[in-house]
Parts: sequence; C-alpha cells; structure tokens
Amino acid sequence: MRVTRAGQAFLAAAALVVTALAASPAPAQSSDTSTRTEDQREAPPSFAEFKASTFRDADGQYIVNGDEPISTERKLRQYYDRMVGSDDGADGGKDDGSTSLVVNQDGGGDDVWSSSQVGNLTYCVSTAFGSDYGVVVDAMAAGAGLWEGASSAVDFVHVSSADASCTTSNSSVLFSVEPTSTTQYIARAFFPSSADFERNVLVNSYSLQTSGWPPSNILGHELGHSLGFRHEHTRPEAGTCFEDNNWRPLTPYDSSSIMHYPQCNGTSSDLGFSAYDGQGTRTVYGS
Ligand SMILES: [Zn+2]
Repeated sequence: MRVTRAGQAFLAAAALVVTALAASPAPAQSSDTSTRTEDQREAPPSFAEFKASTFRDADGQYIVNGDEPISTERKLRQYYDRMVGSDDGADGGKDDGSTSLVVNQDGGGDDVWSSSQVGNLTYCVSTAFGSDYGVVVDAMAAGAGLWEGASSAVDFVHVSSADASCTTSNSSVLFSVEPTSTTQYIARAFFPSSADFERNVLVNSYSLQTSGWPPSNILGHELGHSLGFRHEHTRPEAGTCFEDNNWRPLTPYDSSSIMHYPQCNGTSSDLGFSAYDGQGTRTVYGS
C-alpha cells in the first residue's frame, strides 16, 4: 500500500506514464493543465528515464504499481515494454503476472500456489520491529485470517521460533515479514512466482499504525498479493490507476475489494475484505 492518502490519488496511479510525469512535471502553467497532460501522455518516457524515476527498495528491487516489487532490470524492462505497448509478445508478456478479484499471470498461467503449499504458508515476523513487534504480529494474524476465512485450503502459519532470524534466507519459513524505514509505501509483498530471495513482506510499522486504515486490512491486502491477487483497480471499470493487462478476472469488477486502492475510485473506506474477495479466493483455491 502507498503511504499517504493525500498523495495516493497521484502516486498510486502507477501506470508507467503517470509515474514518469510525477518524476518530471511540466513547467507550471495555470491555463491549460489538462490539455498539457494529455499531450504529455502521448510521449512516454524512455526506459532510462522510467528506470531512473522508479523507487528502489533497500534490497535493490524496483517498486511498481505502488507496492509490487520487480527483482531485476531485465524484468523491469519487460514491465516497461508492456506498459508502453512495445512488448513483442515473445515471452507472452506474462513474466510478472498476478490474479481478482484478478489473479496474476505468470508464464501464461495463473500465478498461484499448489494446493499443498497454500495450506502451509509459513512466515516469521522479525523481532527487529522492536516495540512494534506485537502490533505487526497481530495485524499479520488478522490479515491472514481474512483469506483463511474465505477458503479452508488457505493457511498462513506464524513460525515464531524463526522471528529472531527472520530474513529471506531463513529456510524454515516460506517468507519473512521485516521492517523497512522507507516512506515510499506502507508495506509491500511478493507473488507466488517470486524467487526465494524475493519472498518478504516489508512493513513501515509507523505508517502501518498511522495511515488511517486498519493495520490488519493493510497486511491483508499485502497477503492478497502473496496469494497471487493483483490490484482490482487495474481493471478498466475503475477508470483510473491502470497498471497492465497481465491478469485474469475471477469475479465481476469489485470497487470495494481489499485489493482496490480506495483512492483509485474505490468504494471501500477502510480497505475491508469483500464478498467477491472471498468468492475469487475460492475460485482459485477451492472452498
Ligand atoms: Zn498492493
């Protein structure tokens, strides 16, 4: 999730061109801003410009679409090519896919867990959260419970014995939940197709507690990504915040989905879990 409501309508509209506009705004003009914006959208940034304007996490991953990591420059280039429409289709354009609700697509298929793995999604919560450790533990459990309540096949398991050495290299858990000091987002996660070293949820625990949304719903949103679900607002019905077409719909468009940023013409005031979120989960993972 992006970090502030005030900036979200602009920042979370993470389509490539909008991101680039944020990095290099037009000279201030008072009369014809809208026309100027339309003109600019006809000339997308170069890849070099796009790369330079894309936030990089402490672990080196590029962050797109508000809270979604891309691990390498090669994958960032593929993302860029899809956004500017120059993907030649040789790779199917589905390298970083996700699924709602819409499910991420990876290599031409759904980017989801196997039936055995989704029933044992182990994680640790780093003790490096310090005095916020308990808040994060509780919000993770409650956020996980949203998805677990929708499908009996889904089970997130907190392995607290791993909390003291909670990193992506701890092989006793599937993913780690670690603190970050960045203010670029509240939290970000990963997709099922992410490599071992990419499987972490990074959380700014101060932002988590001060954003105005319930911490459990914010981490529930991130865990939605970890199950393969994309931002609902990438669907054309949202009318804004388009990301890409690398997804497959599971339910009718749902403006109140937990995966729909409220500031992207969403209708949820608290990022709550919707009936369609549950239905889409069962479509992928069973009841
Ligand atoms: Zn997200």
